[in-house]
Amino acid sequence: MAEKRIILTGDRPTGRLHIGHYVGSLRNRVAIQNAGGFERMFVFIADAQALTDNFDNPEKVRQNIIEVALDYLSVGLDPSKVTLFIQSQIPELTELAFYYMNLVTVARLQRNPTVKTEIAMRGFGADGEEAAFGSGLPVGFFTYPISQAADITAFKATEVPVGEDQKPMIEQTVEIVRAFNRIYGETLVEPKVVLPSNAACLRLPGTDGKAKMSKSLGNCIYLSDTAEQMHKSVMSMYTDPLHINVSDPGHVEGNTVFTYLDAFCRPEHFGRYWPDYADLDELKAHYTRGGLGDVKVKKFLEKILNEELDPIRARRKEFEKDIPAVYEMLKKGSEAAREAAAATLDDVKRSMKINYFEDKALMEEQARRFSE
Ligand code: ATP
Ligand code: MG
Repeated sequence: MAEKRIILTGDRPTGRLHIGHYVGSLRNRVAIQNAGGFERMFVFIADAQALTDNFDNPEKVRQNIIEVALDYLSVGLDPSKVTLFIQSQIPELTELAFYYMNLVTVARLQRNPTVKTEIAMRGFGADGEEAAFGSGLPVGFFTYPISQAADITAFKATEVPVGEDQKPMIEQTVEIVRAFNRIYGETLVEPKVVLPSNAACLRLPGTDGKAKMSKSLGNCIYLSDTAEQMHKSVMSMYTDPLHINVSDPGHVEGNTVFTYLDAFCRPEHFGRYWPDYADLDELKAHYTRGGLGDVKVKKFLEKILNEELDPIRARRKEFEKDIPAVYEMLKKGSEAAREAAAATLDDVKRSMKINYFEDKALMEEQARRFSE
Protein backbone atom coordinates (compact mmCIF):
# COMPACT_ATOMS: atom_id res chain seq x y z
CA MET A 1 0.00 0.00 0.00
CA ALA A 2 1.47 3.34 -1.02
CA GLU A 3 1.58 5.49 2.07
CA LYS A 4 -0.24 8.81 2.01
CA ARG A 5 2.32 11.49 2.78
CA ILE A 6 1.21 13.88 5.48
CA ILE A 7 3.78 16.42 6.65
CA LEU A 8 3.60 18.25 9.95
CA THR A 9 5.92 20.57 11.84
CA GLY A 10 5.80 23.63 14.06
CA ASP A 11 7.67 26.28 16.02
CA ARG A 12 7.29 27.83 19.44
CA PRO A 13 6.22 31.49 19.43
CA THR A 14 8.93 32.46 21.92
CA GLY A 15 10.54 34.90 19.50
CA ARG A 16 10.98 35.64 15.84
CA LEU A 17 12.43 32.84 13.71
CA HIS A 18 16.15 32.82 12.98
CA ILE A 19 18.52 31.35 10.41
CA GLY A 20 18.91 28.23 12.60
CA HIS A 21 15.20 27.52 12.07
CA TYR A 22 15.66 28.33 8.43
CA VAL A 23 18.41 25.82 7.68
CA GLY A 24 17.17 23.30 10.25
CA SER A 25 13.57 23.11 9.13
CA LEU A 26 11.97 26.05 7.26
CA ARG A 27 14.05 25.63 4.09
CA ASN A 28 13.14 21.92 3.97
CA ARG A 29 9.46 22.68 4.44
CA VAL A 30 9.33 25.13 1.57
CA ALA A 31 11.16 22.62 -0.67
CA ILE A 32 8.65 19.88 0.27
CA GLN A 33 5.75 22.27 -0.27
CA ASN A 34 7.00 23.25 -3.72
CA ALA A 35 7.86 19.71 -4.79
CA GLY A 36 4.30 18.58 -3.98
CA GLY A 37 3.32 14.93 -4.06
CA PHE A 38 1.84 14.90 -0.56
CA GLU A 39 -1.68 14.53 0.71
CA ARG A 40 -1.57 17.38 3.20
CA MET A 41 0.94 19.58 4.94
CA PHE A 42 0.42 21.27 8.30
CA VAL A 43 2.65 23.90 9.89
CA PHE A 44 1.68 25.21 13.29
CA ILE A 45 2.57 27.76 15.93
CA ALA A 46 3.11 25.83 19.16
CA ASP A 47 1.78 28.40 21.63
CA ALA A 48 0.50 25.83 24.14
CA GLN A 49 3.94 24.28 24.22
CA ALA A 50 5.60 27.70 24.55
CA LEU A 51 3.41 28.31 27.60
CA THR A 52 4.83 25.24 29.37
CA ASP A 53 7.96 27.25 30.15
CA ASN A 54 6.52 30.74 29.64
CA PHE A 55 3.31 30.26 31.64
CA ASP A 56 4.08 33.45 33.56
CA ASN A 57 4.59 35.49 30.38
CA PRO A 58 1.50 35.06 28.20
CA GLU A 59 2.08 38.45 26.58
CA LYS A 60 5.39 37.23 25.10
CA VAL A 61 3.67 34.25 23.51
CA ARG A 62 0.76 36.36 22.27
CA GLN A 63 3.03 38.96 20.65
CA ASN A 64 5.12 36.35 18.88
CA ILE A 65 2.22 34.56 17.15
CA ILE A 66 2.13 37.20 14.43
CA GLU A 67 5.94 37.35 14.20
CA VAL A 68 6.17 33.62 13.52
CA ALA A 69 3.24 33.76 11.07
CA LEU A 70 4.98 36.58 9.16
CA ASP A 71 8.21 34.58 9.15
CA TYR A 72 6.34 31.60 7.68
CA LEU A 73 4.80 33.64 4.92
CA SER A 74 8.02 35.49 4.16
CA VAL A 75 10.10 32.32 3.68
CA GLY A 76 7.52 31.20 1.15
CA LEU A 77 5.08 28.92 2.98
CA ASP A 78 1.88 29.26 1.00
CA PRO A 79 -1.49 28.97 2.78
CA SER A 80 -3.07 27.65 -0.40
CA LYS A 81 -0.81 24.60 -0.19
CA VAL A 82 -0.16 24.31 3.55
CA THR A 83 -2.54 24.51 6.51
CA LEU A 84 -1.08 27.03 8.95
CA PHE A 85 -2.67 26.96 12.40
CA ILE A 86 -2.32 27.80 16.09
CA GLN A 87 -1.95 24.86 18.48
CA SER A 88 -4.09 26.17 21.35
CA GLN A 89 -7.09 26.56 19.05
CA ILE A 90 -7.31 22.80 18.61
CA PRO A 91 -8.64 21.47 21.96
CA GLU A 92 -8.54 17.91 20.57
CA LEU A 93 -4.75 18.05 20.97
CA THR A 94 -4.90 18.42 24.74
CA GLU A 95 -7.45 15.65 24.95
CA LEU A 96 -5.20 13.26 23.02
CA ALA A 97 -2.21 14.18 25.19
CA PHE A 98 -4.19 13.30 28.30
CA TYR A 99 -4.81 9.76 27.06
CA TYR A 100 -1.23 9.30 25.86
CA MET A 101 0.04 10.14 29.35
CA ASN A 102 -1.05 6.66 30.42
CA LEU A 103 1.37 5.14 27.94
CA VAL A 104 4.59 6.88 29.06
CA THR A 105 6.56 6.33 32.25
CA VAL A 106 8.24 9.03 34.31
CA ALA A 107 11.56 7.23 33.82
CA ARG A 108 11.15 7.41 30.03
CA LEU A 109 10.55 11.16 30.11
CA GLN A 110 13.56 11.63 32.37
CA ARG A 111 15.75 9.92 29.77
CA ASN A 112 14.86 12.46 27.04
CA PRO A 113 18.19 14.22 26.33
CA THR A 114 16.62 17.36 24.81
CA VAL A 115 14.32 17.89 27.78
CA LYS A 116 17.28 17.38 30.13
CA THR A 117 19.32 20.08 28.35
CA GLU A 118 16.37 22.45 28.19
CA ILE A 119 15.58 22.05 31.88
CA ALA A 120 19.17 22.91 32.78
CA MET A 121 19.13 25.89 30.35
CA ARG A 122 15.91 27.29 31.76
CA GLY A 123 17.11 26.99 35.34
CA PHE A 124 14.25 24.80 36.52
CA GLY A 125 16.77 22.77 38.49
CA ALA A 126 20.39 22.91 39.51
CA ASP A 127 23.02 20.87 37.66
CA GLY A 128 22.67 17.14 37.90
CA GLU A 129 19.86 14.90 36.89
CA GLU A 130 18.22 14.49 40.25
CA ALA A 131 18.08 18.20 41.01
CA ALA A 132 16.99 19.01 37.44
CA PHE A 133 13.98 16.75 37.78
CA GLY A 134 13.29 18.07 41.26
CA SER A 135 10.23 19.75 42.66
CA GLY A 136 10.75 23.09 40.86
CA LEU A 137 10.00 21.60 37.44
CA PRO A 138 6.49 22.30 36.09
CA VAL A 139 4.68 19.10 35.10
CA GLY A 140 3.57 20.75 31.86
CA PHE A 141 7.13 21.29 30.70
CA PHE A 142 8.24 17.83 31.82
CA THR A 143 5.47 16.22 29.78
CA TYR A 144 5.68 18.35 26.63
CA PRO A 145 7.11 15.46 24.57
CA ILE A 146 3.74 13.74 25.12
CA SER A 147 1.86 16.81 23.96
CA GLN A 148 4.12 16.86 20.92
CA ALA A 149 3.15 13.24 20.20
CA ALA A 150 -0.47 14.41 20.25
CA ASP A 151 0.31 17.19 17.74
CA ILE A 152 1.99 14.76 15.35
CA THR A 153 -0.48 11.88 15.59
CA ALA A 154 -3.61 14.06 15.53
CA PHE A 155 -2.88 14.78 11.88
CA LYS A 156 -1.65 11.24 11.12
CA ALA A 157 1.65 12.80 10.07
CA THR A 158 4.07 10.52 8.24
CA GLU A 159 6.96 13.01 8.02
CA VAL A 160 8.19 15.62 10.47
CA PRO A 161 10.92 17.95 9.12
CA VAL A 162 12.81 19.31 12.14
CA GLY A 163 16.25 20.13 13.51
CA GLU A 164 18.29 17.48 15.28
CA ASP A 165 17.20 18.51 18.80
CA GLN A 166 13.71 17.27 17.98
CA LYS A 167 14.79 13.71 17.15
CA PRO A 168 14.10 12.39 20.68
CA MET A 169 10.55 13.81 20.45
CA ILE A 170 9.81 11.87 17.29
CA GLU A 171 11.27 8.72 18.89
CA GLN A 172 8.97 9.27 21.86
CA THR A 173 6.03 9.70 19.50
CA VAL A 174 6.81 6.45 17.69
CA GLU A 175 6.87 4.62 21.05
CA ILE A 176 3.48 6.08 21.97
CA VAL A 177 2.01 5.10 18.60
CA ARG A 178 3.30 1.53 18.98
CA ALA A 179 2.00 1.23 22.55
CA PHE A 180 -1.38 2.66 21.59
CA ASN A 181 -1.81 0.40 18.56
CA ARG A 182 -0.70 -2.67 20.55
CA ILE A 183 -3.12 -2.04 23.41
CA TYR A 184 -6.13 -0.55 21.62
CA GLY A 185 -5.72 -1.83 18.05
CA GLU A 186 -4.26 -0.28 14.90
CA THR A 187 -5.30 3.40 15.04
CA LEU A 188 -2.35 5.79 14.93
CA VAL A 189 0.29 6.37 12.24
CA GLU A 190 4.04 6.18 12.92
CA PRO A 191 5.88 9.35 11.86
CA LYS A 192 9.38 9.57 10.41
CA VAL A 193 11.79 12.36 11.29
CA VAL A 194 13.18 14.34 8.33
CA LEU A 195 16.52 15.93 9.23
CA PRO A 196 18.50 18.32 7.00
CA SER A 197 20.94 16.39 4.80
CA ASN A 198 23.71 18.96 5.39
CA ALA A 199 25.47 18.30 8.73
CA ALA A 200 26.01 22.02 9.47
CA CYS A 201 22.23 22.52 9.41
CA LEU A 202 21.33 19.86 11.97
CA ARG A 203 22.01 22.27 14.81
CA LEU A 204 23.28 25.65 13.66
CA PRO A 205 25.44 27.24 16.40
CA GLY A 206 24.77 30.75 17.71
CA THR A 207 26.81 33.76 16.61
CA ASP A 208 28.61 33.43 19.96
CA GLY A 209 29.83 29.95 18.98
CA LYS A 210 27.53 28.29 21.54
CA ALA A 211 26.14 24.88 20.61
CA LYS A 212 22.75 26.04 19.28
CA MET A 213 21.34 29.24 17.88
CA SER A 214 18.30 29.67 20.10
CA LYS A 215 15.77 32.38 20.78
CA SER A 216 16.27 31.67 24.48
CA LEU A 217 20.05 32.29 24.30
CA GLY A 218 20.01 35.62 22.43
CA ASN A 219 22.67 34.53 19.90
CA CYS A 220 20.55 34.72 16.79
CA ILE A 221 20.46 36.21 13.33
CA TYR A 222 16.73 36.67 12.79
CA LEU A 223 15.11 36.32 9.39
CA SER A 224 13.52 39.70 10.01
CA ASP A 225 16.77 41.47 11.02
CA THR A 226 17.63 44.38 8.76
CA ALA A 227 20.82 44.20 6.68
CA GLU A 228 22.41 46.65 9.18
CA GLN A 229 21.50 44.52 12.20
CA MET A 230 22.83 41.45 10.45
CA HIS A 231 26.05 43.26 9.55
CA LYS A 232 26.71 43.89 13.27
CA SER A 233 25.98 40.25 14.14
CA VAL A 234 28.26 38.90 11.42
CA MET A 235 31.14 41.27 12.24
CA SER A 236 31.05 40.30 15.93
CA MET A 237 30.75 36.56 15.25
CA TYR A 238 32.84 34.02 17.09
CA THR A 239 35.66 32.68 14.89
CA ASP A 240 38.93 31.07 15.96
CA PRO A 241 40.39 32.48 19.19
CA LEU A 242 43.88 31.26 18.16
CA HIS A 243 43.77 33.15 14.84
CA ILE A 244 45.09 36.46 16.18
CA ASN A 245 47.22 37.79 13.30
CA VAL A 246 46.22 37.41 9.65
CA SER A 247 49.37 35.34 9.04
CA ASP A 248 48.45 32.82 11.79
CA PRO A 249 47.14 29.44 10.65
CA GLY A 250 43.38 29.29 11.34
CA HIS A 251 40.99 26.56 12.39
CA VAL A 252 37.76 25.99 10.50
CA GLU A 253 36.44 23.34 12.89
CA GLY A 254 34.25 24.99 15.53
CA ASN A 255 34.66 28.31 13.70
CA THR A 256 31.14 29.70 13.44
CA VAL A 257 31.79 31.70 10.26
CA PHE A 258 32.83 28.54 8.45
CA THR A 259 29.93 26.54 9.90
CA TYR A 260 27.54 29.16 8.47
CA LEU A 261 29.35 28.96 5.14
CA ASP A 262 28.88 25.17 5.23
CA ALA A 263 25.16 25.80 5.74
CA PHE A 264 24.64 28.55 3.15
CA CYS A 265 27.47 28.68 0.62
CA ARG A 266 27.10 27.21 -2.86
CA PRO A 267 29.86 27.03 -5.49
CA GLU A 268 28.22 29.76 -7.63
CA HIS A 269 28.65 32.24 -4.76
CA PHE A 270 32.41 32.24 -5.44
CA GLY A 271 31.87 33.25 -9.06
CA ARG A 272 29.59 36.08 -7.93
CA TYR A 273 31.38 37.40 -4.85
CA TRP A 274 34.89 35.98 -4.55
CA PRO A 275 36.38 34.59 -7.76
CA ASP A 276 39.81 34.17 -6.13
CA TYR A 277 38.63 30.75 -4.96
CA ALA A 278 36.89 27.95 -6.84
CA ASP A 279 35.00 26.57 -3.87
CA LEU A 280 34.71 26.38 -0.10
CA ASP A 281 37.43 23.75 0.19
CA GLU A 282 39.96 26.13 -1.41
CA LEU A 283 38.90 28.94 0.91
CA LYS A 284 39.20 26.68 3.95
CA ALA A 285 42.64 25.51 2.82
CA HIS A 286 43.89 29.11 2.61
CA TYR A 287 42.45 29.99 6.03
CA THR A 288 44.01 26.88 7.56
CA ARG A 289 47.42 27.70 6.00
CA GLY A 290 47.35 31.24 7.33
CA GLY A 291 47.37 34.61 5.57
CA LEU A 292 43.60 35.12 5.38
CA GLY A 293 41.87 37.55 7.74
CA ASP A 294 38.52 36.91 9.46
CA VAL A 295 36.98 40.16 8.20
CA LYS A 296 37.34 39.13 4.55
CA VAL A 297 35.62 35.81 5.21
CA LYS A 298 32.88 37.54 7.21
CA LYS A 299 32.23 39.99 4.36
CA PHE A 300 31.82 37.05 1.98
CA LEU A 301 29.41 35.34 4.39
CA GLU A 302 27.44 38.57 4.73
CA LYS A 303 26.95 38.80 0.96
CA ILE A 304 25.72 35.21 0.80
CA LEU A 305 23.33 35.74 3.72
CA ASN A 306 21.97 38.92 2.18
CA GLU A 307 21.35 37.14 -1.12
CA GLU A 308 19.25 34.55 0.75
CA LEU A 309 17.55 36.94 3.16
CA ASP A 310 16.79 39.95 0.93
CA PRO A 311 13.79 38.31 -0.81
CA ILE A 312 12.53 37.06 2.59
CA ARG A 313 12.79 40.60 4.02
CA ALA A 314 10.98 42.04 1.01
CA ARG A 315 8.12 39.54 1.24
CA ARG A 316 7.78 40.23 4.98
CA LYS A 317 7.36 43.96 4.28
CA GLU A 318 4.47 43.11 1.94
CA PHE A 319 2.69 40.81 4.40
CA GLU A 320 3.17 43.35 7.22
CA LYS A 321 0.89 45.71 5.30
CA ASP A 322 -2.20 43.58 5.99
CA ILE A 323 -1.97 42.09 9.49
CA PRO A 324 -5.72 41.36 9.79
CA ALA A 325 -5.41 39.15 6.69
CA VAL A 326 -2.67 37.16 8.40
CA TYR A 327 -4.87 36.56 11.46
CA GLU A 328 -7.76 35.58 9.18
CA MET A 329 -5.51 33.08 7.39
CA LEU A 330 -4.50 31.56 10.77
CA LYS A 331 -8.15 31.38 11.83
CA LYS A 332 -9.17 29.55 8.66
CA GLY A 333 -6.16 27.23 8.98
CA SER A 334 -7.03 26.49 12.61
CA GLU A 335 -10.61 25.60 11.65
CA ALA A 336 -9.39 23.21 8.95
CA ALA A 337 -6.81 21.67 11.28
CA ARG A 338 -9.44 21.19 13.97
CA GLU A 339 -11.55 19.10 11.63
CA ALA A 340 -8.63 16.80 10.88
CA ALA A 341 -7.72 16.44 14.58
CA ALA A 342 -11.35 15.79 15.57
CA ALA A 343 -11.53 12.87 13.13
CA THR A 344 -8.46 11.29 14.72
CA LEU A 345 -9.81 11.87 18.21
CA ASP A 346 -12.98 10.02 17.20
CA ASP A 347 -10.85 7.08 16.04
CA VAL A 348 -8.90 7.17 19.30
CA LYS A 349 -12.03 7.22 21.44
CA ARG A 350 -13.52 4.36 19.47
CA SER A 351 -10.34 2.31 19.92
CA MET A 352 -10.23 3.13 23.63
CA LYS A 353 -13.89 2.18 23.99
CA ILE A 354 -14.94 5.59 25.28
CA ASN A 355 -17.40 6.21 22.46
CA TYR A 356 -20.40 5.23 24.64
CA PHE A 357 -23.09 7.20 22.85
CA GLU A 358 -22.29 6.04 19.34
CA ASP A 359 -21.93 2.40 20.45
CA LYS A 360 -25.41 0.93 19.83
CA ALA A 361 -24.21 -2.62 20.53
CA LEU A 362 -23.06 -1.58 23.98
CA MET A 363 -26.44 -0.05 24.83
CA GLU A 364 -28.32 -3.10 23.62
CA GLU A 365 -25.99 -5.43 25.49
CA GLN A 366 -26.47 -3.49 28.73
CA ALA A 367 -30.24 -3.34 28.22
CA ARG A 368 -30.30 -7.12 27.79
CA ARG A 369 -28.12 -7.65 30.85
CA PHE A 370 -30.44 -5.64 33.05
CA SER A 371 -33.64 -7.18 31.69
CA GLU A 372 -32.52 -10.76 32.32
P1 ATP B 1 13.23 27.90 22.18
O1 ATP B 1 14.55 28.38 22.66
O2 ATP B 1 12.06 28.68 22.66
O3 ATP B 1 13.04 26.40 22.35
P2 ATP B 1 14.17 27.46 19.52
O4 ATP B 1 15.01 28.53 18.92
O5 ATP B 1 14.82 26.21 20.02
O6 ATP B 1 13.26 28.14 20.62
P3 ATP B 1 11.93 25.96 18.50
O7 ATP B 1 10.65 26.64 18.22
O8 ATP B 1 12.07 25.15 19.72
O9 ATP B 1 13.08 27.06 18.45
O10 ATP B 1 12.34 25.04 17.25
C1 ATP B 1 11.63 25.06 16.03
C2 ATP B 1 12.30 24.19 14.98
O11 ATP B 1 13.54 24.74 14.57
C3 ATP B 1 12.64 22.77 15.45
O12 ATP B 1 12.44 21.90 14.37
C4 ATP B 1 14.09 22.84 15.80
O13 ATP B 1 14.73 21.60 15.68
C5 ATP B 1 14.60 23.82 14.75
N1 ATP B 1 15.76 24.56 15.25
C6 ATP B 1 15.76 25.44 16.27
N2 ATP B 1 16.98 25.94 16.46
C7 ATP B 1 17.79 25.35 15.52
C8 ATP B 1 19.17 25.46 15.19
N3 ATP B 1 19.98 26.27 15.86
N4 ATP B 1 19.66 24.71 14.16
C9 ATP B 1 18.84 23.89 13.47
N5 ATP B 1 17.52 23.74 13.73
C10 ATP B 1 17.00 24.46 14.74
MG1 MG C 1 13.52 24.69 21.13
